Parts: sequence; C-alpha cells; structure tokens
Amino acid sequence: MTARDPGKLDRIIAEARRAAEARDQGYRERALKIYPWICGRCAREFTRANVRELTVHHRDHNHDNNPPDGSNWELLCLYCHDNEHQRQLEATGGRSNAAPADSVSTYAPFADLKELLGKKQPPK
Ligand SMILES: [Zn+2]
Ligand SMILES: [Zn+2]
Repeated sequence: MTARDPGKLDRIIAEARRAAEARDQGYRERALKIYPWICGRCAREFTRANVRELTVHHRDHNHDNNPPDGSNWELLCLYCHDNEHQRQLEATGGRSNAAPADSVSTYAPFADLKELLGKKQPPK
C-alpha cells in the first residue's frame, strides 16, 4: 500500500553523494585506469602498495579540464610532479595564478614521506 521506500531513497542519496565525490576525485581513478602506473618523467613503476605516490598532473595546469580520453593527464611520481610545478613557478616568475589544486590535495600529505625516503628538499 505504501509508496515509501526508504531504502530506495537512501540509495538515491548515496548515489548523488558518490557522483559529487566522483567529480572531484574521479579523474585520478580514471587516469590510473587509462595509463600504466609509471611516472611519465623518471619511468619509476608503481604497484598497489605505493600507488599513493603516483599523482595525476594536469598538462595545462587546469584541474577542471578532465577530458574522458585522459589527454590532459599525466601520471607523475611525487618528486617529478613537484619538479614540474617548480619549473612552472620559475617560468611564471615565482607566481602561479593557475594554482594547481591537485598538488595541494594530492601530495601535501606526503611531505614527510619525502624525507622518509631520503629525498630532502628545502621548503618552498
Ligand atoms: Zn618520477
Ligand atoms: Zn600537476
């Protein structure tokens, strides 16, 4: 008799939430599906154990530009990704108006990891 289906509503909400998260995080997942887990610069290979150190770089530095064919993405290890943005900063005179949001969320948490791995870099 009742038209209510709380289970269905929950699924719809969960679905919407997933879709919203997918918009933000999806490109990493997709990039990892499209490309082999190898750094595009130093050719370091990655496995499930250390894939966290593999990051998605946006070639045009616009993280909203996520074409489904992955043509704006490049998989880079933490170090090479850092170098890539360092170069970009130098190229723009130490200022980047296209602040790479991907770098903030993706490799800031691994700042300590760099030190653990013995690759100390001076703070920016
Ligand atoms: Zn690399
Ligand atoms: Zn990047």
